[in-house]
Amino acid sequence: MDRRSFLIASGVVTGASLVPGAARASTRGTDRPRGARFSDPFTLGIASGDPLPDAVVIWTRLAPDPLAPAGGMPGRRVAVRWEVAKDEGFTKVVRRGAAIARPEEAHSVHVDVHGLSPHRWYWYRFRVGRELSPVGRTRTAPAVGTAPAVLATVNSCSQYEHGYFTAYRRMAEESPDVVFNLGDYIYEYEANDYVAPDGNVRDHIGDEINTLDEYRQRYAQYKGDPDLQFAHAVAPWIVTWDDHEVDNNYADLIPEDRDPEEGNATTASFAARRAAAYKAYWEHMPLRMSRQPSGPDMQLYRRFDFGATARFSVLDTRQYRTDQPCDDQFGVGCGEEFDPQATILGDEQASWLEQNLSSSRSAWNVLPQQIFMANLDAEPAEETPQDPNDGGYNDAWDGYRVSRQRLLSYVADRNIQNFVVLTGDIHSHWLADLRLDFEDPDSPVLGTEFVTTSITSNGDGSDQSSFFPFLAANSPHLRYNSNRRGYLLCTMDKSVYRTDYRVLDYVSRPGAPVRTDASFIVESGRPRAEAV
Ligand code: FE
Ligand code: CA
Repeated sequence: MDRRSFLIASGVVTGASLVPGAARASTRGTDRPRGARFSDPFTLGIASGDPLPDAVVIWTRLAPDPLAPAGGMPGRRVAVRWEVAKDEGFTKVVRRGAAIARPEEAHSVHVDVHGLSPHRWYWYRFRVGRELSPVGRTRTAPAVGTAPAVLATVNSCSQYEHGYFTAYRRMAEESPDVVFNLGDYIYEYEANDYVAPDGNVRDHIGDEINTLDEYRQRYAQYKGDPDLQFAHAVAPWIVTWDDHEVDNNYADLIPEDRDPEEGNATTASFAARRAAAYKAYWEHMPLRMSRQPSGPDMQLYRRFDFGATARFSVLDTRQYRTDQPCDDQFGVGCGEEFDPQATILGDEQASWLEQNLSSSRSAWNVLPQQIFMANLDAEPAEETPQDPNDGGYNDAWDGYRVSRQRLLSYVADRNIQNFVVLTGDIHSHWLADLRLDFEDPDSPVLGTEFVTTSITSNGDGSDQSSFFPFLAANSPHLRYNSNRRGYLLCTMDKSVYRTDYRVLDYVSRPGAPVRTDASFIVESGRPRAEAV
């Protein structure tokens, strides 16, 4: 039986266990227990994440009235029972316990389930009173020293208004061992402020979000989507944020709109907004308790070893960056992008990343992160840095060239093998060779950047981004592009890293099938990806 047949047989792929009421019909009924005040509290689904060889986080948030303040929950603590089993029927329960859902954490629970076996599938569910949650499936990471094949999917940018979340469902149907979300999981805008080229298909609730209650309500709106719930229910997610979880193109404590004279946020008021946004993010993601933010700070960058197969260094390129250069204009150079004081990771994270790379014993050194690393500056090499036409993507690594050079030089100098960067943000699929000098086609290839398109952002899209031919003509390191919606399917073992660029031809209506638009492999020890 292949993985997909197994999932269909077990009911996970069909979504049988996610049909509201289906799995719990027998426990509901007219004879409600005395004291039970809730209707179904599991309207936001369940999730798991941050897998280790012996542990995984399981998550839910109680919200019987998900869009209401506090999700319709009373302002008191509620006990949530949980269990983890080796089988979907819960005949072999291996761990169970009780967690406390607190009103100050939006009645979310983040249970760090320990004592599990490596690289195994588990099933989990929650119970409040006599209400049972849907059943989720999750998987631990492979053990140290083992090197099994790993199937990962990679996604980003799910603007709720721009389309239906079919790509999340198609991704879940691939039965990944692990899912990477690279940010823009929500968007902060009020309804119809950000409109897809062919119009929006549904609306955000409320104004642009600023307060904790508003961020919570926005997560509740997104997480009510059945395709997204399905995607969380089939595999553990490893998440990181980009900008829209807080504010478009913010940088550390600097908001997008930065003129206080025009009524924009001050640093202090933006810190309060970031604190609310980070808290709501933590409350709604399958992250460990230890990741809980403190005020406007939350350490999200972290490392996962999948045995000797892959080491994933998950980056945070928003919280510690200096302001974007050149007024954050696309394609404009001004010299500031070469500022040696500028940083995209901050010193601490940059050193941590270098340590991860030099100490890795895994075949693949993978960086799940947010923004384009390869050069998108299509001007010829002889242009001077101060030439206003010589800029690239200033919100991405192009805007922080000293940071980029530090990382790529480290990879070159330490001879870091099998360097793979995973990127989101740009709402289109790309493949790029990573070179020490992007202006020199003879500069050796150090690694490969696989960029995933969006789940929905920018609507149905087209076969190719309009600017790709121009960029590619002057930048041979840019080798593939698609402007359709979709995700990456990455299969890796000790010798080969394969990426299938999965696309859907529309998201403006539900139900699109998925197809592979292109596939590339990287062989261990040979950094340049080859089309297959
Ligand atoms: Fe986005
Ligand atoms: Ca973004």
